[in-house]
Amino acid sequence: MESIKGNLFIITAASGAGKTSLVKALVNDKPNIKVSISFTTRNPRVGEVDGKDYFFLDEVNFEKMVENNEFLEMAKCHGSLYGTSKLTVKEALDKGEDIILEIDYQGAFKVKKLFPDSISIFIIPPSIRALEDRLHNRGQDSEKDIKLRVAAARNEMSHLDKFDYVTINDNFEKALFELKKIVNFNPEALKLKTENQILNHKYLIDELKK
Ligand code: 5GP
Repeated sequence: MESIKGNLFIITAASGAGKTSLVKALVNDKPNIKVSISFTTRNPRVGEVDGKDYFFLDEVNFEKMVENNEFLEMAKCHGSLYGTSKLTVKEALDKGEDIILEIDYQGAFKVKKLFPDSISIFIIPPSIRALEDRLHNRGQDSEKDIKLRVAAARNEMSHLDKFDYVTINDNFEKALFELKKIVNFNPEALKLKTENQILNHKYLIDELKK
């Protein structure tokens, strides 16, 4: 267990739930929050920039970082390795800065254990259909990959009840507004607490977890 000066936010979502665009918009509006750039062994997608979207590296170099204990957490997702830099997070929090980790549910659980005061948020799509449409429109994944990602999404979403907050990305501006309430500790964010969202959106959440 660690004590922290800055706020640590964990944002998790299935790929295609619109997480990356939402986090970009959130940070643009709130320059005092930074986003941790993860390390990954996955190949860059078209338009992705090394050092901006991810630090792209091969498995040998990833393993070296593991041996040197450089990761706060790491996980395997869709066949590639992903890890969060311990140094980046520690430095930000020690300076009293707020930092966002965009990581999967396995990483989220590890970080929550290390930092029980961290705030975890799960972003869900309004339907499985919307998730499939976003993955198709992104045009970066093969048909086979899309099927795998949708199955993985259902698995991810089966863990959402362990998160502090849930946001439904049915409308970008609305979801952004909700994320802002959470990171600004607005009392209205209470409505977005997972236990309330599970009650208010039972049908959708049951459907997504199937
Ligand atoms: P993508 O390849 O689509 O960018 O990301 C695939 C998954 O890996 C997403 O769920 C994303 O949140 C997760 N991810 C990205 N970086 C990290 C990380 O550093 N640690 C963990 N545990 N998951 C990550």
